[in-house]
Amino acid sequence: MARLAFAMSCLRKRLKQQERSCPFCGKPETIFLERKFVLLELRRCPNCELQFRWPKDTDSDNDAFYQSEYEQGAVTALPSQEEIAVLRKSNFVGSPMDLSDRLAILAGLVPRGKILDYGSSWGYGVYQLVGAGYDAFGWEISRARAEFGRAMLEIAVESDWSVIERRAPLDGIFSSHVLEHLPSPMPALDAFSRLLAPGGWALIFVPNGGGKHAREEGVRWGPMIGEKHCLALAAPFFAKNLVAYGFEPPLFASRFGRELVSLLPWNGDLRALEGDELVVAARKR
Ligand SMILES: [Zn+2]
Repeated sequence: MARLAFAMSCLRKRLKQQERSCPFCGKPETIFLERKFVLLELRRCPNCELQFRWPKDTDSDNDAFYQSEYEQGAVTALPSQEEIAVLRKSNFVGSPMDLSDRLAILAGLVPRGKILDYGSSWGYGVYQLVGAGYDAFGWEISRARAEFGRAMLEIAVESDWSVIERRAPLDGIFSSHVLEHLPSPMPALDAFSRLLAPGGWALIFVPNGGGKHAREEGVRWGPMIGEKHCLALAAPFFAKNLVAYGFEPPLFASRFGRELVSLLPWNGDLRALEGDELVVAARKR
């Protein structure tokens, strides 16, 4: 959506007095933290610890956005046939779509098996997962991107959720910078819980809404909230809520760059997770 259209949509929701309830647990009273661009608020739910942008998106806002308007540089722009040939040949190494560091973390949890890339865009992650020996497939909300991946990379990327459901139980779910775009994390956590086999792992990467830059700069830290980022996810939210979805207490790491990290239990101190990217690993009971 153009910036003006997004501003108008926020303004309409403000005028209609959209509820400031939590988009995850539904608690009616949430806490104002900070304002951004006059119209936006960063809020926190004292019940489930979710930090979210208000005005909130609806599922239909979100669907319309990703079917038509979403562009974010190389990761979501669609490359030409010639570019695809080069990327395939190099297995995406050195490109902005190179997931080798993330797949190395996955390999430590799930060495083989059936893996869903949740929010897979046009499938560059699925391609790399298949190359690493997994039985991998992707789910992508944008039908155009899913179709592009199937045609250009000859991999399984679906925008029909029922196809994904039929492939359960899964050994792992990989999700890289997707959850922060959702109006609520609930459908994702619910799906991860239902689709994973006992002992299967969810490996989640998000901008760290509790990291050093997020804490010091608040909404001035770019990834915190905005048109694309509905949620500012941080360790307290995952630590508090994943267990209720049938997971063991999650393991965490954070990093500033692409360095590999060790996933460890978290002691509750945000200063132990300073990096700009949060890595969350949760094993299904
Ligand atoms: Zn809540």
